[in-house]
Amino acid sequence: MSRWAYNETMSEISESKHASDFHIIGGGLMGLLTAYELSGLGYRVTVFDRQEMGKESSWAGGGILSPLYPWKYPKPINQLSLWSQRVYPRLARRLYEESEIDPEYQLSGLLVLDADQFEQARSWAHQSGARYAEMGHYWLEYSEPAIRLGLDAIQFPHIGQIRNPALLRALIQVLWQRGVKLVPHHPLNEVISEKGRVCAIRVGEEKVRVENLILTTGAWTASLVDVPGFESGIRPVRGQMLLFKAGAGLIKHILLKDGRYVIPRRDGHILVGSTMEEVGFDKSTTDSALKEIFQFACDLVPALENTPLAQRWAGLRPASPQGIPLIGPHPTIRGVWLNAGHFRNGVAMAPASVRLLLDQIFQRNSILSLPPYLPSNKT
Ligand SMILES: Cc1cc2nc3c(=O)[nH]c(=O)nc-3n(C[C@H](O)[C@H](O)[C@H](O)COP(=O)(O)OP(=O)(O)OC[C@H]3O[C@@H](n4cnc5c(N)ncnc54)[C@H](O)[C@@H]3O)c2cc1C
Repeated sequence: MSRWAYNETMSEISESKHASDFHIIGGGLMGLLTAYELSGLGYRVTVFDRQEMGKESSWAGGGILSPLYPWKYPKPINQLSLWSQRVYPRLARRLYEESEIDPEYQLSGLLVLDADQFEQARSWAHQSGARYAEMGHYWLEYSEPAIRLGLDAIQFPHIGQIRNPALLRALIQVLWQRGVKLVPHHPLNEVISEKGRVCAIRVGEEKVRVENLILTTGAWTASLVDVPGFESGIRPVRGQMLLFKAGAGLIKHILLKDGRYVIPRRDGHILVGSTMEEVGFDKSTTDSALKEIFQFACDLVPALENTPLAQRWAGLRPASPQGIPLIGPHPTIRGVWLNAGHFRNGVAMAPASVRLLLDQIFQRNSILSLPPYLPSNKT
């Protein structure tokens, strides 16, 4: 099926119950947060998703509010993440107040436990001004007694976390209260343009007139936005997760070792991840990954061996070249905007990514320099 149709006459497009100032495709964190900001400014917004809202990558992720090893990432990623880190406490509080659902933001701090990363971690902290503390093994044993003995750590106390499903539930509740139209089970099938400008979309069986179309379609973005002369380079990368149900307080910090992590939630659930698998759009879980993640978790926190497993799942990260998201106008169709390709750090970068897109739509001074993110620079 052709995703993009040109020069179709406007007369064929019926007026719709979905009339809005902005139409957003994709009800993950990026789409819902965009709707939150736009509705806060008084605009009428409709969000379409091909399934229930907020059930893909944004639900599946760990909610660590920083790239895992920030020194390994290019500046445009760290800039989005640092800006968002400052915003999250207030955003979480406002969502809690409006929805009465607590997104469980907490400044748990992060411990890097890979000795071979310490040198780079220190020099990154000095350059970026991030606070850190050296934790020798005596201090670590005292502060986190459940961690295996003999490890040293570097602590980043400014790194927090949020509980993804709770964040999404809070956003959905607020949007619903504000009268934003959330329309599940309506896949975007076609974008219709006239004289190089978007004029309508076909979602499910319905044809809807649009003026401003924002695509926040995560790992599925390439098939929707790529046209001759423009390749977004966005593809799915599967990550599997394991959830333990431990007693509250077994672990206090987020732990990072060998590229894997342990995230303690407030109620005692402990989330452990993840894998990086190039398997297309396959979201199934595998026993081999379960075994690997379980082994990693028990090596690091031996008490987990006797802790019940609560759940396992997989999600599809929207990978983009270098992990830098595409934020800005579609290079060939006016009125179409992209905010996608956040790879492993979409939760960490979401508030700044949304702000950067809205800065462009409303032609405001932008919070960051735009070129690294512009879709037109990826052609
Ligand atoms: C295992 C795992 C762990 C992660 N851990 C972290 C972490 O700790 N910290 C962090 O910052 N990030 C993490 N991430 C990454 C983060 O979750 C993503 O970068 C982010 O959620 C992307 O948000 P999104 O809204 O762009 O995509 P999604 O949440 O995937 O939303 C895209 C939406 O678009 C919809 N859609 C797609 N095609 C169509 C269509 N044709 N029509 C209508 N709707 C459509 C989908 O149904 C979906 O709801 C993790 C991801 C995974 C999988």
